[in-house]
Amino acid sequence: MSCLVVPSQEGSKAPGPVPGPLWPVGSLGVAIGVSWGMSSASMEIQLRHAEMHIHKPAEPATATVVKNEACTAGKKAAGFVRHIELDLSGTGLAGKCIPGQSLGILAPGVDGNGRPHKPRLYSLASPTRGEDGHGAVHALTVKRLIDENPADNSLFLGVASNYLCGLGVGSKVQVSGPSGKRFVLPVDAGAHDFVFIATGTGIAPFRGMLMDLFAGGYKGEITLIMGSPYATDLLYDGQLAQLAQEHANFHYRTAISREANAPHGKMYVQDRLAAEWPVLESQFASGRALVYICGIAGMELGVFQQLARALGPGVLEQYLELDPEAAGNIDGWTRAMIHRQVRPTRRVFLEVYA
Ligand SMILES: Cc1cc2nc3c(=O)[nH]c(=O)nc-3n(C[C@H](O)[C@H](O)[C@H](O)COP(=O)(O)OP(=O)(O)OC[C@H]3O[C@@H](n4cnc5c(N)ncnc54)[C@H](O)[C@@H]3O)c2cc1C
Repeated sequence: MSCLVVPSQEGSKAPGPVPGPLWPVGSLGVAIGVSWGMSSASMEIQLRHAEMHIHKPAEPATATVVKNEACTAGKKAAGFVRHIELDLSGTGLAGKCIPGQSLGILAPGVDGNGRPHKPRLYSLASPTRGEDGHGAVHALTVKRLIDENPADNSLFLGVASNYLCGLGVGSKVQVSGPSGKRFVLPVDAGAHDFVFIATGTGIAPFRGMLMDLFAGGYKGEITLIMGSPYATDLLYDGQLAQLAQEHANFHYRTAISREANAPHGKMYVQDRLAAEWPVLESQFASGRALVYICGIAGMELGVFQQLARALGPGVLEQYLELDPEAAGNIDGWTRAMIHRQVRPTRRVFLEVYA
């Protein structure tokens, strides 16, 4: 099975988005156009309106699983990651979710204290129009959490991720959300170039964002850097490669960290960022570039260090504000310094999780 099919409007009951504006008008209560070619160096960045907490955990929506398939590039991937589509029809969530937001999943049963499980968040992987063309079916990209119980070395299976990954088509799921309003695209997307940096399931929001951008006729430059330990662990790889073939302004780059024989040698996302710098430099210097980072907590450290090394005075401050001692010792940065001595500006969007 694969997840390579770009959501189409086949079978839609309602008209899909028309080319032109980047976002469907109306369903989200906002009418948003594109400001092509606007200089953005000092521009305030206004983000898309994101509706929040329509269904709270105490009053969740009931969704139906309509697809559940593996979405790693190879069958022998190191992790188990599944593309799971939920039909939200008839709930308050239908037509209200945008890429960069998350849904809360309420697994059945109780935790060790006898309380209902708390919701776990999963990023939406679909564009605004959803997988069905009118925003009712949205996908999640879920990695099974598999661990060892330190007390007795027994197998520990994460509650919500394994519950979700094990659901069959037709299963009902309790869902809350959407949540998150800071990791979404800007209103004037056409005025920006995008550097998307993902590790693992951090690819999810970018899948939806890319589809939104291209559905709206986006003409700027998008570089997506996708990091994974092995090539078999790349997610949506075929679909992303296909998008890159269809859109000359989309540059899909991978960074494989544990394979010496990968075409580019062993690489982390920050190494790929450095390798792409000859092309990216002008996007940063012009002030058009916005950086979105999503995935494994800690990945931002190397990316920020690379930005600090590569960006010259006058440009760096647009992306990172550094305390003087941090500026003088980039190699010595630690994660604890992020947001304290090393502060991403509003041109850098961060969504990382353990
Ligand atoms: C904004 C946001 C977006 C996210 N998006 C995604 C996404 O798109 N895809 C995705 O897969 N994940 C995503 N996550 C992570 C997701 O929310 C969950 O945290 C993750 O799936 C683990 O949940 P779980 O219920 O399976 O594991 P849990 O049961 O919550 O376990 C969590 C941790 O507790 C440890 N643990 C707990 N009890 C024990 C025990 N008895 N023995 C040993 N270890 C134990 C586990 O090892 C593990 O580290 C996101 C998180 C956030 C905050």
